[in-house]
Amino acid sequence: ANYISVIGAGLAGCEAAWQIAKRGIKVKLYEMKPVSFSPAHNLDTFAELVCSNSLRSNQLENAVGLLKEEMRLLDSLIMKCADKTKVPAGGALAVDREEFSKLVTEYIKNNENIEVIHEEVKEIPKEGITIIATGPLTSESLAKAIENMIGNNYLYYLDAAAPIVTFDSIDMSKAFKAARYGKGTDDYINCPMTKEEYEAFWEQLVNAQVADVKEFEKDMVFEGCMPVERMAKRGIDTLRFGPLKPVGLINPSTGKEAYAVVQLRQDNTSGTLYNMVGFQTQLKWPEQKRVFRMIPGLENAEFVRYGVMHRNTFINSPKLLDSVYRLKDKPNIYFAGQITGVEGYVESASSGLVAGINASMDMLNKDNVVFPTTTAIGGLSRYISDKNIQNFQPMNVNFGLMDGLEVKIRDKRKRNYEISMRALNVIKNIILNFTVEI
Ligand code: FAD
Repeated sequence: ANYISVIGAGLAGCEAAWQIAKRGIKVKLYEMKPVSFSPAHNLDTFAELVCSNSLRSNQLENAVGLLKEEMRLLDSLIMKCADKTKVPAGGALAVDREEFSKLVTEYIKNNENIEVIHEEVKEIPKEGITIIATGPLTSESLAKAIENMIGNNYLYYLDAAAPIVTFDSIDMSKAFKAARYGKGTDDYINCPMTKEEYEAFWEQLVNAQVADVKEFEKDMVFEGCMPVERMAKRGIDTLRFGPLKPVGLINPSTGKEAYAVVQLRQDNTSGTLYNMVGFQTQLKWPEQKRVFRMIPGLENAEFVRYGVMHRNTFINSPKLLDSVYRLKDKPNIYFAGQITGVEGYVESASSGLVAGINASMDMLNKDNVVFPTTTAIGGLSRYISDKNIQNFQPMNVNFGLMDGLEVKIRDKRKRNYEISMRALNVIKNIILNFTVEI
């Protein structure tokens, strides 16, 4: 085929189509709206923000602020339109959602290399290069086709994720590393609780505020992954016989088992992130921070991702994708957006940008552009394709996904700012040294 197919004109699909078209390649962009709508989409126009109108922080001390700036350097359509339709929001970038969506649609429809086709795609195109960017609410028949292509057990419909905290923010004078019954290496970080601590924690947990559940998610069944607060409501000791079981975990500072233990499991290869085992939850985010910080060792925990439970179609990317969001087994198929397990509007668009650039490079027979892990774009794509990840869950961008600095800077904002300055230089050099215009 002499064109690239992009399925889904959301945040990721529009960015991908734009990145391809600007390199002189024809795109067929398929979008099922307004013929058919997901339960969360309402507008006829593209790149619809289905919930908040905020694209979060716009500052370089924040990883999503850095991601935005990297994307601006790479001529991102989503960033261009967001900057042009912004509304006052302090340090964040919020937009007028209708103006934003309208502007993206205009840029796409006025681009002579892009042909828009309004239909629900039910089969994966057999010919040419395809980018699948159909989002967290991918239509049912296409989801089935994806499942058939990648194999059973590699497509998930539910995002039931436990919170993730940074290793640096865990108080290791209270927590200890050990595996149950001393089996295996010391893979887990364990936060021991006394009876008093456990009971106080349980009391707050069962009374904490739960997030609003969307109408279309009310009937969702939780197979084998019950929210921790719901399990707690079954009885005061239920968690102590479940995920907070203390047996076989000897606290080296007391030589004894504790009354209850919260375990954290390493979440990325570099060991900067840990997830709370069994803590999938529907609590509101501020409530998670308040209640989970009662756990000994987590008093100052930095949450890079809160626990969530909602409908979310995504693939097991670490098993399937390489670091440019391309199927390892079928290199003519790319995935982009929330369906790859990146989480959030800007993150989705950033993966569309990487997939779009690289699908273009494939088409032009040029080398791929793999963004290094000193950049936010690269840190996120490494996480998505990190084959050591066992229990893959969607992820927002954060500094824990990127390489640290060689010099130690204690002040977190200053440290983050330096990481950002380094990243922006890396991106500028990639652009300067590139043979084809990127
Ligand atoms: P989308 O923007 O959803 O785009 C996918 C497009 O593909 C849609 O236009 C859809 O109509 C189309 N499509 C689907 N199936 C087909 C098909 N078979 N054929 C043709 N077209 C198809 N992130 C945040 O940062 N902040 C939030 O507040 C936020 N709230 C969210 C609320 C809900 C209810 C959900 C589900 C997600 C939310 N997210 C939020 C997560 C995520 O960032 C957004 O869903 C984001 O829009 C994902 O971008 P995307 O491009 O991957 O998918």
